[in-house]
Amino acid sequence: MKLFRVEPKPRWADQADGAFTWKLPSFKCPTCNLLQSEWFGYPNLSLQGKVEEGLYQARLVTKYDYLQLARTVESLFPDCPPLYPGTGFGPFRGTVGHGEKRDCLWVSPQKLLLKETAYDQLAESGLRIGTGPAVMEDFKTYQARPEYRRVVDLKVICCMAVQTIEFAEFRNCSECGVRVLKRPERLFLKKKAIPEDLPLFMVRETASIIANEEFAKAVKSLKVKNTAFEPVDLV
Ligand SMILES: [Zn+2]
Repeated sequence: MKLFRVEPKPRWADQADGAFTWKLPSFKCPTCNLLQSEWFGYPNLSLQGKVEEGLYQARLVTKYDYLQLARTVESLFPDCPPLYPGTGFGPFRGTVGHGEKRDCLWVSPQKLLLKETAYDQLAESGLRIGTGPAVMEDFKTYQARPEYRRVVDLKVICCMAVQTIEFAEFRNCSECGVRVLKRPERLFLKKKAIPEDLPLFMVRETASIIANEEFAKAVKSLKVKNTAFEPVDLV
């Protein structure tokens, strides 16, 4: 099995703007004061009309308040994936550049939009990529850009191997555990924790998107220039 960390190229360049419609608030760890906030989200879970929507925005609350708000979402969606502070809920909304036509479009290293034609080509090559709704507008004309209506929906998996720490800036706290503070130079993943059949998934500890070999091959065949694939180490 070969896996790749997949990222925008260049890494620092946002290629479109956007955010999830709702977010679980973030909090600072009461012990180490480090901000607990994730950048990923679940585009297929909508909170519309189900919660007090003003409370589910990007903001800072106490850990207690965060837990209360997370419990409300859990009671609405008993089978929902893990609800981390900062987790977004769909649809994803944003703007794309006026002349934009690239197949893969990055909003951050955690949010990837796929153009409809590219998604169809990837599906034809046999890849089953989970996506959720995105509502994108043209940056200049505010017209809808329906060719960008999918954001990749990633399963979040705790699978970072401890060897990564050697290549990362991190902090260890008795309350919130080991926290990787910056993108590690090298990424090691636990082989046993990795699902075999997913073209893409998210590493919870480092918020990295990981692609399998089939996805990497299929995307490279589209000749995309704005996406980098870097092999990761499996241990
Ligand atoms: Zn802490």
